[in-house]
Amino acid sequence: MSPFKLVAAGVTDVGRVRDGNEDDFIDQADRLGLVAVADGMGGHRAGEVASATALEALRAAVANGRSLRDAIEGANDAVLEKSESHRELHGMGTTLTAGMLGSDGQLVVGHVGDSRAYLVRDGELTQITNDHSLVEELVRGGELTPEQAEVHPRRSIITRALGIDPQVEVDEYPIDLRPGDRILLCSDGLTTMVRPDDIAGILNREHDPKRAAQLLVDAANEAGGEDNVTAVIIDAVEVTHDDATAAAAVPDDDTADAPPVKPRRRTGRTVLRVLVWVLPILAVLAVAFFAVGWYARNTYYVGIDRGRVTVFQGVEGGLLGWDPTIDRRTTIDPGALTPAQREDITDGKKFSSRSEADAYVTRLRQGIEARTPATTIPVPPESTVPPITATPPS
Ligand code: MN
Repeated sequence: MSPFKLVAAGVTDVGRVRDGNEDDFIDQADRLGLVAVADGMGGHRAGEVASATALEALRAAVANGRSLRDAIEGANDAVLEKSESHRELHGMGTTLTAGMLGSDGQLVVGHVGDSRAYLVRDGELTQITNDHSLVEELVRGGELTPEQAEVHPRRSIITRALGIDPQVEVDEYPIDLRPGDRILLCSDGLTTMVRPDDIAGILNREHDPKRAAQLLVDAANEAGGEDNVTAVIIDAVEVTHDDATAAAAVPDDDTADAPPVKPRRRTGRTVLRVLVWVLPILAVLAVAFFAVGWYARNTYYVGIDRGRVTVFQGVEGGLLGWDPTIDRRTTIDPGALTPAQREDITDGKKFSSRSEADAYVTRLRQGIEARTPATTIPVPPESTVPPITATPPS
């Protein structure tokens, strides 16, 4: 028997902005010693189905004696199966951060997504889990500072979730409990709204776990409540002889009124949190961006610059930040062209290669010569064009 029992309490709230609550949690630690937070996502009502499905499957698997990792993988299967068999639920997914008490006094935290587990020990708050999020990966890769990540517009993009792929990678963090340890499981609706120092302050100040969870939720709402917010607080309490006797008589050591899984709530949230497939999409966009760049650099047009017909490399007006550059200035005065030719080049006449653009310029020159009486001085050939640096400003 574990030298500890878990005293847990959770609070969830829709927040100040969303129409429905897609978060869900388990705070009835009881004989299973299981606690969890799940943050669902998906259009319409799919998000709340995802989080509730994951927690139901998790609880059932743990009750059947499976390990935490096994149970989380089973929850992944359950969400994916439901998603694939109901068109309106397609693409749904959920985070899952769960804690399970072992007989050796260890609490194992299993984790997928960007919900978090924290430990408060001797007044110090430590983050246990690493987010599976795009900004977290950018921070790890040195591309963002933690401060930039906090306010990054893409900070809600997660890179791992349950219900997306048949395989899911579960991170596990074993905690060797000590008397007085307090663990917080929470959704990103808390951590994006309330700074760690303020979370630590509340967890240290309020002894009662239910009231502390409520204070955290209140703080998130006071800060704007931009997302659903959930906090589950778990206190590790040493088991005394009296407790052991009482536990034998009354299996559930938690409040009797808390249901094993919170009932689903209505939701209207239609903002689809971007899932694992966002990374391939970003890769495709990057390829597209450079393809556009290649196109922009391998296209030519003939236009007018400083009162002379000019060959440009690039796309008139630029394309996605790829600006055209002057490839060659000619001596041709646009005034010597026919009105139709002038109109053609005013907005830039496009060519797919330099030689085509050059051939066009040659035709313009030949046209001018053909229209010019023999007695006048012909347009000087290209070789007499002075260097660009010598061209007077227009
Ligand atoms: Mn959330």
